[in-house]
Amino acid sequence: MTEILDGKALALQIKEEIANEVRQLVAADHRAPHLAAVIVGEDGASMTYVANKEKSSHEVGFTSSVYRLPEKISERELLETIQFLNNDPDIDGFIVQLPLPKHINEQRVINAISPDKDVDGFTPVNIGRMVLGEDCFVPATPMGICTLLKRYGIETAGKHCVVIGRSNIVGTPVANLLSRKGFDCTVTMCHSRTRNLAELTRQADILVVAIGKPEFITADMVKPDAVLVDVGIHRVPDASKKNGYRVIGDVKHSEVDSKCSWVTPVPGGVGPLTIVSLLQNTLKAYHKSHE
Ligand code: NAP
Repeated sequence: MTEILDGKALALQIKEEIANEVRQLVAADHRAPHLAAVIVGEDGASMTYVANKEKSSHEVGFTSSVYRLPEKISERELLETIQFLNNDPDIDGFIVQLPLPKHINEQRVINAISPDKDVDGFTPVNIGRMVLGEDCFVPATPMGICTLLKRYGIETAGKHCVVIGRSNIVGTPVANLLSRKGFDCTVTMCHSRTRNLAELTRQADILVVAIGKPEFITADMVKPDAVLVDVGIHRVPDASKKNGYRVIGDVKHSEVDSKCSWVTPVPGGVGPLTIVSLLQNTLKAYHKSHE
């Protein structure tokens, strides 16, 4: 029987744990943790992501602020905003919502974020620390995937985990984390130049799909009883929905799910855990700044 890795329910539970901790801090006369977000321009998906992060911050009692900057802002002005946030002692962590407009060098902006406030875990310092197994801020989506597997007690040691995708924000870090001590998977990382992809995916005890292509993974590509983690998020038009769209993943769930032992639904799987991981990283940054 297929069981659900219910990210929505787990996110609620972890948020309640964070909210309890924040209540205790505030009751003891400490200020609440503060997460800030920088958004450049008015991309619809980015605005939704930032709004969700803001809402979740408020739900757990964090202070939240959003810096909305015009699409035409220069790289220098954006870097000045980053410096301002780096130096503000009342802000524990901040994120810069990606993607940035084409005239801005994304990596230069990420590199300017103080590693101590880099709650997205995107700076070279935090990525380096993660690879070395040192204390760091782990990128939110990979961290959320690890939390899901851990909290649901999924056996990982010695399992063959196939990760599809090698992006810096999902595929590469999740492959690294799941191969490390504690998870102890044997990891195969696939990308667009991988040959015979289906042969590899059919060997996976745990299949993590972060390919960015709607319903790409079909039943013939999955081993019976595999654990399936679908990271993909795509909005497709759907006139039957009030908002005019529905959200689907990188996996064709209608045919794949019944073959698996565990699956993450889309929506309600990895997505909610991504936001929760950001909150956990912010709380960690808060504690570090109060050490
Ligand atoms: P990305 O940067 O576009 O990376 C996609 C990866 O898939 C690349 O490494 C690419 O290979 C690989 N790929 C593309 N076509 C392939 C093929 N035919 N066979 C094998 N590999 C192929 O995407 P991303 O940022 O990692 O995101 C992946 C998905 O997760 C997207 O749908 C995104 O919206 C979603 N996402 C969800 C969350 C969440 O919170 N749930 C967070 C982040 C992202 P190359 O490197 O060779 O190009």
